[in-house]
Amino acid sequence: MSGRVDLVVVGGGIVGLATAYRLLETRPGLRLVLLEKEVRLAAHQTGRNSGVIHSPNTYAPGSLKARLCAEGMRDALAFADEHGIPYEICGELIVATEPDELPRLAAVAERARANGVVLRELGPEAMREIEPEVRGLRALHVPSTGIIDWERFALALGDAVRARGAEIRTGVEVTAIRRAADGLVLETTAGAVATRDLVTCAGLHSDRLAAMTGHGRGIRIVPFRGDYAVLRPEARHFCRALVYPVADPRFPFLGVHLTRRIDGAAWAGPNAVLAYAREGYRRRDVDLRELGGILGDRGFLRLAGRYWRVGAAEMLRDLSLRLFLRALQRTTPGLTLADLSWGPSGIRAQAIRRDGTLVEDFAITGGPRVLHVQNAPSPAATASLAIGREIAGMAVARFEIRA
Ligand SMILES: Cc1cc2nc3c(=O)[nH]c(=O)nc-3n(C[C@H](O)[C@H](O)[C@H](O)COP(=O)(O)OP(=O)(O)OC[C@H]3O[C@@H](n4cnc5c(N)ncnc54)[C@H](O)[C@@H]3O)c2cc1C
Repeated sequence: MSGRVDLVVVGGGIVGLATAYRLLETRPGLRLVLLEKEVRLAAHQTGRNSGVIHSPNTYAPGSLKARLCAEGMRDALAFADEHGIPYEICGELIVATEPDELPRLAAVAERARANGVVLRELGPEAMREIEPEVRGLRALHVPSTGIIDWERFALALGDAVRARGAEIRTGVEVTAIRRAADGLVLETTAGAVATRDLVTCAGLHSDRLAAMTGHGRGIRIVPFRGDYAVLRPEARHFCRALVYPVADPRFPFLGVHLTRRIDGAAWAGPNAVLAYAREGYRRRDVDLRELGGILGDRGFLRLAGRYWRVGAAEMLRDLSLRLFLRALQRTTPGLTLADLSWGPSGIRAQAIRRDGTLVEDFAITGGPRVLHVQNAPSPAATASLAIGREIAGMAVARFEIRA
């Protein structure tokens, strides 16, 4: 496409692709270009996650996360059916192993039910019928949860976006944005791109893109690395499906757990430690400028000051597979060190405010001609098509797009 386009989407992860897909559904014929800085789509969070189709168990009733996760699950299954993407609705078990976890488990059950999730509460015998290797006091069984390859899903979305007439340009990084007479001009590593409207879905860089148009002040992305351990093939029987501990409600992470993959593998994790670079997937990857920016941020310092004990424990566990194993043995005591080896990592883009509080819900902000997805951590892969529909609705209301 040459000349000014109607709309640019920045970010070729699952949220950007689903947004482009929904915008083109809302307004066929829209001259849309999607820009992705990597040479391939889905290179970051979308290609480096647990592959779970989440049920809305833990999100606050009435939140965007609760609503869009529930809608997104249904949308994702319909899209996967239509495009021949394999998935399995295998169910999940959330297990309380200590008496002090029982009230938290009850709170999860209450929240899940308020969000429309159908579940069963199980005692030790019944939970072993579902997961024979699991031990605990009480568990919730959520049959609606599933597994899928979100990278494959995103690539299929990319094909569908191209089939709807849009252009996807990879290897093009947006470096600056300026206002023009009747729209915006994006400076990129491949020259300027003029557009009437703009939606950014930049994951780990979402705060930077928002800052380029003067939005999102007071919100910063903190990258939390999550490392996985892979179970050796002979140990895959330790989880038939998905086994979670009861999550700490203060954090948006689910705790180290066992995950069956759609290709038959079994993974444990992910943990959650500060990444020393936004895209630093190995423990030794450090970007001093980015790290300095985080460590000098008032919001991060407040967060770290509040939860330094939890953070220190996570960092220790990140260095020791033995400590990682100990966390897993709480629900699955038969696992041994020989069953595990370190595997891949992903990095979560989690927005925090200047006062050190986490932005818990999905956040979409903007102004004239611009919308920015500022916080789309888990379950945004599950919710992607519903987030896309939400953004398309906002675009119709704010931009010159007509349904
Ligand atoms: C470890 C881990 C486990 C998870 N597990 C699950 C799960 O099981 N189920 C689930 O539903 N969710 C899960 N999530 C969350 C889910 O993966 C993310 O919420 C989702 O992938 C976010 O998609 P996105 O498109 O916003 O971000 P991304 O996939 O990160 O995509 C953003 C894209 O923007 C591009 N970009 C950034 N800046 C620029 C720029 N200046 N110019 C051009 N392009 C740019 C990036 O290169 C990137 O490709 C998990 C996440 C992690 C990290």
